[in-house]
Amino acid sequence: MAKEERNWHPNFKKYMEKIIQHPNYTGMPEIHKKDGSILWITAGKGRIGKERTKWWDKKREELGIDKKIKWISETAKKNHPTGRKPCQICGEEMELAYVYPYVGVLAKINAIPKINGFFDVYYSINDIIKEGAKLGGEEFFKELRKIFKIPAKVKDSVEAFQSYITENCKTKLSPGAMSNAPDRLDGFHTYNKCCRATHDTGRHKSNLQRYVQDRRAYENWAEGDWKAAERLMGEFHKHGLSADHIGPISLGFCHRAKFQPMSREANSAKNNRMSLNDVQILLADEAKGQKVVSWHSKFVWDALKSRVKTDAQAKLVSRLMRKNLHHVLSIFAKINAEDGKEFLIRNFLHPEHSYYDVKFTGFNPETGGFEKMKKIEGDKKQYKNNVQRYIRISFESLGHYIDKDNRVVSSWNNLKVDEVLSKAVASLKAGNEDTCKENLSNTLKLLAEDAVKEFESEQV
Ligand SMILES: [Zn+2]
Repeated sequence: MAKEERNWHPNFKKYMEKIIQHPNYTGMPEIHKKDGSILWITAGKGRIGKERTKWWDKKREELGIDKKIKWISETAKKNHPTGRKPCQICGEEMELAYVYPYVGVLAKINAIPKINGFFDVYYSINDIIKEGAKLGGEEFFKELRKIFKIPAKVKDSVEAFQSYITENCKTKLSPGAMSNAPDRLDGFHTYNKCCRATHDTGRHKSNLQRYVQDRRAYENWAEGDWKAAERLMGEFHKHGLSADHIGPISLGFCHRAKFQPMSREANSAKNNRMSLNDVQILLADEAKGQKVVSWHSKFVWDALKSRVKTDAQAKLVSRLMRKNLHHVLSIFAKINAEDGKEFLIRNFLHPEHSYYDVKFTGFNPETGGFEKMKKIEGDKKQYKNNVQRYIRISFESLGHYIDKDNRVVSSWNNLKVDEVLSKAVASLKAGNEDTCKENLSNTLKLLAEDAVKEFESEQV
């Protein structure tokens, strides 16, 4: 097996086994290589590719498809037993039908009020309409009508919108995976749409810059041993892997030296999104006495964590935690503007991790685990420089973060929150830091209550 194939996602490997055993692919030329592994990829113009093209042509006749342009992709689609396939990179399944909005269309949908960036690349238009109706109500239908140019005769209902859009708006939709017969055994690219965009074209530079700056804000204002986490992440990068926090720091979780290995493409596709399984791992870590969430986000996490029973609920909690962290960073920026810099440093930054370096031995790229972690002390002068640098970057990143005028996450709409937050600022000005922190925790409790209400109102 080629090196890259060995690293394919386990879901994809299971899928390959199922496909070659399925009667729809009986007689496919040279399914196995000499070493017994599956010959999934061939060059269409090579000997095996030509034989496989003949096989597809027979299949076409069987299925009654005319031999016109694109006959082979049409045949591959019709021949596929389930109409869904997992992605070789991230392992998530997507549909082969044209049901996924193009990037620009998805961005417009995500900008609809109350949607607030809820939908990621894995959502089909059918699921978007179903979930979006719950989140956005009448306004969602109104905006979606504009985006897809839906005529007035189509009424505001989930089913009516689903059938109109899937039948009439193909130019705004793309399949979960592009056809690629005869080069791939099943006739489709091994990458799904989720991981293809980041793989093929890379991110737009300004998006990348924004991503780096935001990430810095999340990291620096998170709890956890950031030095150890940074160094362990370096070990992943040396192996061409991306380090995925089970509890993403962009949702308010700690920056812990605990990651699961993932390809870079899969990680950026999965960004900001927890599954039910992720939530369960975090709960198990907490049961073992580990601290998984930062102080500023524990209120919302504690209020919602035990309610998560499905992947959809895990996604919803992810969105509510993302919103919470946005509020937290806005609050920190406000405190900073009210001469609260020293207060913020004392209570929320962790310069103590600048005092040493960390080295890992026996790193295992398969599991993300390691044998030993060793802390190495530096000299006094180094500490001082490192601490200053860390604090400078923390405030710089906070400034950049709130400077963005095109954020889709809205601010709170709760006068009680404003009131308690003003009390926090007043106590800070009076020199009473303990009262200030108490008022801040009351502010975050109120915001957590709002999040619970939102969670409940979106459950049907
Ligand atoms: Zn993927």
